[in-house]
Amino acid sequence: MARRFTVVFLLAVALSAVCALTWRIAWERGVDALRQQAAVRADRTASALKDTLDRYESLAYLLANHPLVKDALEHSTPDNATRANRYLQDANRHAQANVTYVIRADGLCVAASNWDQGDSFVGSNYQFRPYFVDAMKGEVGRFFGIGTVSREPGYYLSEPVHRDGRIVGAAVIKLNLEWFPGTDASEPLIVADNHGVVFLSSVPAWKYRALAPLPASLAAAIEKTRQYASQPMTQLPFSTVRRVDDAQIVRIGDERFGPHYLVTRRTLGTPDWQLITLSSVTPVLDDARNATAAAGFGFVSLCLLAFYWRTRRARVREMMRSRAMLQAAYAELNERVAERTADLSAANARLQTEVSERTRAENDLRAAHDELVQTSKLAALGQMAAGITHELNQPLAALRAFSDNTRVLLERGDQTAARENLEAISALTERMGKITNQLKLFIGRAQPRTAKAPVARAVRNALNLLQKRFQGVALDLTLRETDGSADAPRKRLELDADYPALVAYCDDLRLEQALINLIGNALDAVAGAADPRIGIDVDATLATFSITVRDNGPGIPDDVLPRLFEPFFTTKGMGQGLGLGLAIASSIARDCGGSLVARNMPEGGAAFVLTLRRAIVASAPSETSSQ
Ligand code: ADP
Repeated sequence: MARRFTVVFLLAVALSAVCALTWRIAWERGVDALRQQAAVRADRTASALKDTLDRYESLAYLLANHPLVKDALEHSTPDNATRANRYLQDANRHAQANVTYVIRADGLCVAASNWDQGDSFVGSNYQFRPYFVDAMKGEVGRFFGIGTVSREPGYYLSEPVHRDGRIVGAAVIKLNLEWFPGTDASEPLIVADNHGVVFLSSVPAWKYRALAPLPASLAAAIEKTRQYASQPMTQLPFSTVRRVDDAQIVRIGDERFGPHYLVTRRTLGTPDWQLITLSSVTPVLDDARNATAAAGFGFVSLCLLAFYWRTRRARVREMMRSRAMLQAAYAELNERVAERTADLSAANARLQTEVSERTRAENDLRAAHDELVQTSKLAALGQMAAGITHELNQPLAALRAFSDNTRVLLERGDQTAARENLEAISALTERMGKITNQLKLFIGRAQPRTAKAPVARAVRNALNLLQKRFQGVALDLTLRETDGSADAPRKRLELDADYPALVAYCDDLRLEQALINLIGNALDAVAGAADPRIGIDVDATLATFSITVRDNGPGIPDDVLPRLFEPFFTTKGMGQGLGLGLAIASSIARDCGGSLVARNMPEGGAAFVLTLRRAIVASAPSETSSQ
């Protein structure tokens, strides 16, 4: 802040200095030029005036030496006077003088060019006039004064008229010089006499005024000669403002800012007059003012330019710095990106290694799993073979016993007993057929996992098959769909309705078989219940189905739970159960990519939950309306 103030202060000082210097130089040069011009003008004007006066002086000399003039002065007869008058009139006209006349030694005008006019000088006495006195002394008389007769100002030139060595009078030429200074107000001109009294001026108001105060005695003497009639002869209102070498600058009037003029003086010598030219310094002042303003403006422009340049340079520098920073940041970013890319590449390589390791591990695992499956298959095969052997041995043994017994009975002729035995044999073979049928189901070829089964239809078919066994058993069917965000309310599963979206990945016959097994077990469980009740709940999420088959039977004893899914495991009496239902259902669930779990419910009874994958079905408009 302080620095800025100092700079502004210094610039202001510099501006003032520039203005002052320019003013001074412009002023001095202007005044110098004006002085030279004024000097030329003054010289020219002075020489013009001098030439005019000299010319008339020659004329006065010629007049004074003219015989007619001499005659008229020596013998003032009317004839002589008339001749002289005519001569003077003629000479006056040719010389373009004001009045030309001759004065006798006693001061009386004897002949004049205006002899025939009303204001004729003839007969007037000019004894007291200085130019007459000078001429009578034998000198050339030069005098400027206001005419006593005409009251007009004029320059009087007189020459003594000699005759026979005597001065008999004077020949006088009165000139009107009023035209001389002109009327140019901007370049006034004045002519002052030897006393410093202005008698010619382009400014009428300056006439008959003194350049310097007149001493009282001098004023009285002038008054006495009636040179300027009775003009007051006060001092001119000039006051010197400045002097420049030999020139002087004056102010006219009392006003401080009144017009200023450069005064140039020239002395004429003879007559002892002073010619003064005044040249207005206003143009010089104007020029100086303009030059100063231009210099000031130029200086300010330069300062502004410098300021602009400085600011621009600073901005450019700032821009360069920003760009450099940006480039550095960009380079750093690139570096980081490169580093990060390198890291990522390394991580990628690591990941790829891990992936290939994992793939290898997975392959290993799969191989191990396959091996395990193979092993467990073999184990299951063994277990099953043992079960089948066990299951079939009993009826086979019974068959052999019955057939042996039948043969004995037939030999005895007991046909009734033999028929009973044959019926028992038939029942046994039927049972064996059932066993093999079930086994066929169990070992049936796994369907591809992409087979799809409509869930509601599978439930309906299973229930239809078991319809007869539902005498007195309450059936509760529910459906709930969850879209992942919120649970929908549980509603009744309508068996007659079509649910096109409820499709599971499973072969439909096998799904029905699994459901038949589960529902059949439930029916067995509620057989002795007071209020037999079976429920089937379908729960659909976006990806899965779970079909829960629950009952209000006795539930599953703890010791039975771990063995539930074992083939041929049954708690049911001889001829009641084969122990294959849950094993088959569980095998179907697994083959379809799902699962089967059993649990006891808190309120009593067992629940079997069959979970399957939900198949994605292109949604049809009828789907929602049908549900
Ligand atoms: P089976 O029905 O021929 O006995 P399963 O494999 O179907 O063969 O069933 C095995 C055993 O599981 C049954 O003997 C029974 O003890 C038990 N069980 C199955 N379902 C139920 C159920 N709903 N309630 C109670 N126990 C059940």
